[in-house]
Parts: sequence; C-alpha cells; structure tokens
Amino acid sequence: MFDQPGLETPGEFDYARSGNPTRKALEGVLAALDEGAAAFAFSSGMAAVSNVLMLFSAGDHLVVTDDCYGGTYRVLTRVFSRFGLQATFVDTSNPDAVRAALRPNTKALFVESVSNPFLKRTDIPAVARIAKEHGALLIVDNTFLSPCLSRPLTEGADVVIHSATKYLGGHSDVIAGTVAVRTPALAQELGFLQNAVGAVLGPQDCFLLQRGIKTLQVRLERQVQTAKALAKWLASRPEVEQVFYPDTGAVVSFRLARDTLAAPFVESLQLPLLGVSLGAVESIVTVPARHSHAAVPAPERQRRGITDGLIRFSVGLEELEDLQEDLAQAFAKALRVAA
Ligand SMILES: *Cc1c(COP(=O)(O)O)cnc(C)c1O
Repeated sequence: MFDQPGLETPGEFDYARSGNPTRKALEGVLAALDEGAAAFAFSSGMAAVSNVLMLFSAGDHLVVTDDCYGGTYRVLTRVFSRFGLQATFVDTSNPDAVRAALRPNTKALFVESVSNPFLKRTDIPAVARIAKEHGALLIVDNTFLSPCLSRPLTEGADVVIHSATKYLGGHSDVIAGTVAVRTPALAQELGFLQNAVGAVLGPQDCFLLQRGIKTLQVRLERQVQTAKALAKWLASRPEVEQVFYPDTGAVVSFRLARDTLAAPFVESLQLPLLGVSLGAVESIVTVPARHSHAAVPAPERQRRGITDGLIRFSVGLEELEDLQEDLAQAFAKALRVAA
C-alpha cells in the first residue's frame, strides 16, 4: 500500500493492485512498443486473454482463429462458454471464411497474427476492414511476432495481446501477459477490468520483463535470420516431409516423414530445450500433439492435422551451424532407433 499525504490530498498510487510505479514504467514501455493509447501488464498471457474476453457479455459471439493457442481454445470452449460467450473457429488467414462466420451478434474477431502450430498468417488490414464494416472489435494475439516484427494497432486492430512469457521477456524466467489498446475508451474499460479482476503482474516480474524488453530487437533480428536459414535447410532434409514457415518470425514447424521418428528425434537433440514454450534465448523444441495442443481433444487435433510427427522449433540464439549439426545427428539417431 502507499501512505497517503492526507485525506484531501491523495497520492498518485494508493493500493498496489490498482497501480504501482514499477508496473506503470513497464506499461508505458508496452504502450510505446505497440503504439497504443495504453497498455496493461497481466500475470500471464492467459490472464491477458481472459481479461480481454471479459469485455464481452452472455449472448455475444466471437470469430476466432481455428489453429489458435491451445489455452485460448480451452478457455473459450470450457470457461467462457459457461457464461454464454459463443465462439466460431475458422481459418482467419482466409478473409472469406471470416466473413462467412459473422453473425448479427458477432462482437469481435479474435485472430492470431501467426497461428500455432502451422504458422499461418492472418492479413490484419483485411480482417480489420471486415471487423469495421460489422461494427466488431479486432483483437490480435501477436505473441509469435512481437511488436518488433508487427504492430497490429497501426493496421486497424483495436486490441493487441502478447504472451510476454515468450519474446518480450525472452529468457523463460517470467510468466506475463500484455494488452495494448488503440483508443482511450478501450483503455478505460481494460484498466477497469485489470483492477476489478486482479490478475496483475507483480512488481518484481514487471522489472524482469522490462529488462528483457531492452534486448528484444537484437534477439529477434538474430533469431529471424537463423530461422530463415534453418527453414530452408529443413526443407532439403529427407527426414522432413513438410516445413511451415511464414517468412518472418523465429518459429519453424515441420512434419517428420514418419510419426514414430518424433520421440527418438526430440530426445536425441542436445542443444534445444524440450517442452512447452517459445521465444527464449535457448532454442525450444515442442511436440504440439503432446505439449502445446494437448488440451485440444484428439479428434479435433487430427482434423487440424496436428499429428504426432509434427515438431515446432523455436529458434534461439545458438549458432546456425551448431543447430544444423545437432539436428542432423538427431535425425540420424532417430532413423536408427525407429527402423
Ligand atoms: C503462450 C501463449 C499464450 C498464453 O500465454 P501464457 O503466458 O503462457 O499464459 C497465448 N497465446 C499464444 C499465442 C501463446 O503462445
């Protein structure tokens, strides 16, 4: 709490959930990065997503990217559905599919600028036009690109969300989420919800996040450069059936020639960490069917093509040649073990 100068002379801060100097400093940086009217720091990316979803009411309808983050799918279908918020999942990289999903009660389009795990890009200006014509908000989860590579608020979006656990923090040492908004009216609503719901980012984590952001640009530039080269190299490998890379960002997905190669392959890798996350200084390898999308029911996963041999590779700051060497030995080992 903050000691007040007097009854009639309140200070700038009163109670730390409502605001504190460290969070204010971070939120200023976040608003500047996303070119928003204001920004808000939350205790996780999912807290940020959930607070944004609380802008809506029972009976409202959203159109959502179909291969969206597993946690977003889960909170929409198993939590907000209980409060009467409806969602239709469509391929938002196809503006016609978005248009076809609109209903009279559609209040927002919720898209991922680059989807996960297939890294499909949604054309932000195109969906912004559709949202505007329909009087709906455009909400963009921009986690995979970060403000360094894309600023949706300058392309017609109303709300931008980042899981700051990923690129903004950059070091896998803080769980955080951010929301930046285009207008002062949305800033007022989100600020109210942030304080009312209370899923705020603690001051120490605000400090860590702000420190991580100082190197965002140099990390991303290097990671994108390595990812581009790695995507090309992977496409030339016989062990790889298909490579997914949107020509930007530092995440590459690829489908192994056989599902049975997945376990020995990821377990033979020496450099990348194995598990659920992305956007860190260390490369991180994820098996979406087992990790990030485990919350998506198996039949739905199959329908979306999230097979057991699909690998997501978040490129870190290691040398390209070291990563190639490590991948090559893991491919070789996997072929021997799975044969
Ligand atoms: C990780 C992630 C989230 C959730 O963020 P947390 O910080 O883990 O709660 C939301 N959206 C996308 C695209 C993500 O990658």
